Amino acid sequence: MTFSIRLIRENTWIISGEGCDCYLLEGQKEAIMIDAGCSSENIRAYAQSFTTRPLKRVINTHSHYDHTGGNGFFEEVLCTEKISRSAKNTMGRNPDKYPLDYTFTIVEDGDVINLGGRELKIIELDCHSPGDIAVLDMTDRMLFTGDEIDSGQVLLLPGYAEQPGQIHAKAAASVETCLRTMRKLEALKPQFDAIYPSHNGSPISTSYIDWFITLCEGIISGEIVGRKDCSSRSYTTEATYYPYPSSGYLRGEYKGASLVYNSKLIKDQDYENAETLLPATPLHIIASYTSRR
Ligand SMILES: [Zn+2]
Repeated sequence: MTFSIRLIRENTWIISGEGCDCYLLEGQKEAIMIDAGCSSENIRAYAQSFTTRPLKRVINTHSHYDHTGGNGFFEEVLCTEKISRSAKNTMGRNPDKYPLDYTFTIVEDGDVINLGGRELKIIELDCHSPGDIAVLDMTDRMLFTGDEIDSGQVLLLPGYAEQPGQIHAKAAASVETCLRTMRKLEALKPQFDAIYPSHNGSPISTSYIDWFITLCEGIISGEIVGRKDCSSRSYTTEATYYPYPSSGYLRGEYKGASLVYNSKLIKDQDYENAETLLPATPLHIIASYTSRR
């Protein structure tokens, strides 16, 4: 079987397979998934076999295909408008292997999804990629962060295209934006007990938020300067989107927090010249996708 599953509390599972770690959340009326991975096998049918509640909906934390590839197996795909623009970009994978004739239900910051006795709130972050969200489980005090926080690294790389043939050279966010994102999560800390990311192990401590804040502040002030070698145990030079050495990306670290950022995109105002920066990654892969919406 393509998938494996782990029960992490009475009503919540992690499903691992191709792409990211996905979450299955069960309420009294329905079950829902957070992210869909990118196996061409039916992840919804697999997940449904573990819960008696109907599973028809999936929430996308962001548009990257390792999170959205399985969307077409669900009746309803919930995401922000920005996510919907590039969620069908197969990022180099064969589009014929995936059902892509689905539509989106648009959600916004602050929207609440009620599973029956279990409420999820959409937290828009817009940092790792455009329109990114976290999902706050207000009932069970869990924060699902997608790729906005994980214990391996947070990547501020390009990695999306809204139109076929479109090439982005700039990262989705500056370090300053990342700092703002972390502060938004810091303000929510009284409402959750642990963080549930999409990669590199789950759950992780809420301390990561504090570490990322210190890290971003240090990079902005110049006290922390990242190293040119952006690799880590979980992100190697063989990774599809590992940045070219000449593209200006660095890896900055503080305690458990690790951030791959562009040394020319520290502050938001740096965006004025962002389109002139060298491409970070093999962007032809992103540009070659066929839109099928
Ligand atoms: Zn991602």
